[in-house]
Amino acid sequence: MKRTKIIDILKSNELNKEICAKGWVKTRRGNNYVTFIALNDGSTIHNLQIVVDMNRFDESLIRRATTGASMSVTGKLTPSQGSGQNVELAAESIEILGDCNPDEYPLQPKKHSLEFLREIAHLRFRTNLFGAITRIRHAMIFSIHDFFTSKGFVNIHTPIITASDAEGAGEMFQVTTLSMDNPPRTEDKKIDYSEDFFGKATNLTVSGQLEGELAAMAMSDIYTFGPTFRAENSNTSRHLAEFWMIEPEMAFYDLNDNMDLAEEFLKHLIRYALDNCMDDLKFLSQRLTDEEKNKKADERSMELIEKLRFVSDNEFVRLTYTEAIEILRDSKPNKKGQFKYPVTGYGSDLQSEHERYLVEKHFKKPVILTDYPKEIKAFYMKMNEDNKTVRAMDVLFPQIGEIIGGSQREENYDKLVARMKEMNIPKEDMWWYLDTRRFGSVPHSGFGLGFERLLLFVTGMGNIRDVIPFPRTPKNAEF
Ligand code: ATP
Ligand code: MN
Repeated sequence: MKRTKIIDILKSNELNKEICAKGWVKTRRGNNYVTFIALNDGSTIHNLQIVVDMNRFDESLIRRATTGASMSVTGKLTPSQGSGQNVELAAESIEILGDCNPDEYPLQPKKHSLEFLREIAHLRFRTNLFGAITRIRHAMIFSIHDFFTSKGFVNIHTPIITASDAEGAGEMFQVTTLSMDNPPRTEDKKIDYSEDFFGKATNLTVSGQLEGELAAMAMSDIYTFGPTFRAENSNTSRHLAEFWMIEPEMAFYDLNDNMDLAEEFLKHLIRYALDNCMDDLKFLSQRLTDEEKNKKADERSMELIEKLRFVSDNEFVRLTYTEAIEILRDSKPNKKGQFKYPVTGYGSDLQSEHERYLVEKHFKKPVILTDYPKEIKAFYMKMNEDNKTVRAMDVLFPQIGEIIGGSQREENYDKLVARMKEMNIPKEDMWWYLDTRRFGSVPHSGFGLGFERLLLFVTGMGNIRDVIPFPRTPKNAEF
């Protein structure tokens, strides 16, 4: 018999129809007369209740339906007597597909710590929590492509292996086929990369932007959605060594257009989650509420769904870096010495604690900061008339800090070359990038959204390791 997914079974109102469900056992309870099995197949957070009349089945068969075992059940859909579901499946035949030894299976029907679940990442998809996160992750991927497609953007694949290291100096993973023990050397004893696979030193990309710009100079509006790699040794709850990034790049956009797009994009994604992932969001929200029940009322964070609505319904605040620095310098935590990195004035790089102060305490709204000092931003950002600041924009979110980083790009060849010289970026390596500024250059802008940072926000999870199936962080590449 053809299998029906549990999400469809639970929506079905065709009672007394014969159907087949397959999945993994969550729990089993009952007595000598009747057994209830909660079955889940990943299609929804909700389980299908299987009702087993023990007069009709061999007890030894039903005893094999332990937590984690997989099974196939056929039977009739009946209205449910119990609370919590409308329909249940009255079993007529049951097949255990795969046993699951309860003495060895690490997932028990109880709450496990997130740390423990990270150690069994190969099994954590089976928890309600990771099921919910995994479905939301997919919904966000879909919504990203949907958003850009509806706006006429073209998705392009940028290379994962790259020879340009202009952006992430020192934070890149090297890609090589040279022998680590005995690499070929040049006369001056340096490693001879001309003998390497690509004939030069190569790394894993930290961003698809530079290649994205090339495509935008013909296609107008493009976006990339690919993996990026950063060997930064920052063991934080917001950094991964391998993460996914969405990078739109738009010809004829100035910084304002760029901010408008970023804001519309984030709101679209959050609304999509609210419209399409409500069952999973409710589960995640309940989880957070339970976690915070011991906190004092004024220490609790905003309820998840309320918070998502709040962000999708309110305008983001826009201000310049210089204005933000003044607010931070005069802020209470700064005066009282409560910031780990005190804000002295113009020129300080903003740390996550400052970003979060602005968003969570001062404005109580997402914030877009613009016009940062050129010294703390990348070479390709367009210089303002003051010759001090660049047309950068960072979107800051509650809990997370920076979720998007972007800018209007410097489209003027001479100015760009001058900036590269100042920052010691060899012009020769970037000839192809500079060519766009020689052949029909136009004002253009773009940004990068860290996909897992978005998911932190939407799911309310606290650690970035829990919103990607198999996190890569320093000293951790199991699975
Ligand atoms: P941060 O200051 O938080 O390290 P960044 O300035 O290095 O961020 P960008 O280079 O502007 O970030 O990258 C664009 C976006 O990619 C960021 O806004 C963020 O959402 C995301 N991002 C950056 N680094 C990481 C990382 N290591 N893990 C996950 N996401 C990241
Ligand atoms: Mn960084």
